[in-house]
Amino acid sequence: MNKPILLSTPHMGDRELEFVKEAFDTNWIAPVGPHIDAFEQEFCQVIGASHAAAVSSGTAALHLALRLVGVQPGDEVFCSSLTFVATANPITYLGAKPVFIDCDRTSWNMNPDLLWGALQRRAKMGNLPKAVVVVHLYGQSADIDPILEACDHYGIPLIEDAAESLGATYKGRSPGTFGRIGIYSFNGNKIITTSGGGMLVSNDEQLISKARFLATQARDGQSPAKGDRAPHYQHSEIGYNYRLSNVLAGIGRGQLRVLSERVAARRNNFDIYQKALGKLPGIQFMPEESFGRATRWLTCLTIDSEAFGADREQVRLALAEQQIESRPVWKPLHLQPVFADCEYVGGGVSEDLFARGLCLPSGSNLTNDDLERVINAIYAVHYNHSKNRSSLFTAL
Ligand SMILES: *Cc1c(COP(=O)(O)O)cnc(C)c1O
Repeated sequence: MNKPILLSTPHMGDRELEFVKEAFDTNWIAPVGPHIDAFEQEFCQVIGASHAAAVSSGTAALHLALRLVGVQPGDEVFCSSLTFVATANPITYLGAKPVFIDCDRTSWNMNPDLLWGALQRRAKMGNLPKAVVVVHLYGQSADIDPILEACDHYGIPLIEDAAESLGATYKGRSPGTFGRIGIYSFNGNKIITTSGGGMLVSNDEQLISKARFLATQARDGQSPAKGDRAPHYQHSEIGYNYRLSNVLAGIGRGQLRVLSERVAARRNNFDIYQKALGKLPGIQFMPEESFGRATRWLTCLTIDSEAFGADREQVRLALAEQQIESRPVWKPLHLQPVFADCEYVGGGVSEDLFARGLCLPSGSNLTNDDLERVINAIYAVHYNHSKNRSSLFTAL
């Protein structure tokens, strides 16, 4: 029996355990501790942000971000449609409603022209959204400049969901550091992991201390805005229990030290896949925009079934038969039953990427043998389904 090859699994470096042991040795297990401060500072250095708050997940970070920019019940928030559901769920936690925006074919991320158009129409109606959430998908930055320009023009805060794109660049800088608030995830499948965790960054120090305040049950007197500290717990606002543990922050510190190696390994996976599979008819890889460097967090491709001889699902199922995990590109959120009544701007692109797109195993810990098994399995599907066998030989 073949060993399973998974989509994206945790990959620890040499230092994580050392940091965790330090937390144990000093009994900084809870409630906070020095690893958290250090992780936040080191994270800021790595991505070039001014201030950061470590929290329990990327979803929690998004929830806080939306709350911090003042999203309230009845508000609308513009949001990328082609993404994981965690991008939009926190909008609904606050009683607000997402309006989904389609992506473009060159970055697979929010189409800036669609955003401009939608904001123009809404401005005329006097009905602007409270915030815009842009996603940086699968390791690639969205085209931030025109998106930020549109948001600034209408005075709408931009929140960047960079959960999948830590380590990427946009014009030399890190996606997540351009908008009012950026968020990252350290979930187990991300490019680095703390088993679970997230980060909120901003250039506004007040915003980040407010995030820490809200993330620790909103205890009055701990807010920098409020002067004296009550001996009992006093609360004037609703808070959350969203802080990251000191033990997990220790893992994060270790993982940060290998981030660039992880990016290199994932880009190398992509190169190997592209070299081997790019020759097959009907296979197209997710493009890399010239404005930045993608991490290739997941290697994604689309399959044109006419040319390839088999469709995306046939390929996915054939891989699954060989214990190889692959996954369709995210189902656009406007197609999800739970968001069926939400407005959608644009159309045609995210639906097509979902219909034909597949994510291949992409972990930074895959071996060359693993990659070869995936490649051979895809060649076999093509060979078995292709009516025109000569295309295989030209491909080889
Ligand atoms: C993983 C992910 C999140 C959520 O992060 P968690 O840490 O799992 O809560 C949010 N947005 C996107 C695009 C993601 O891929």
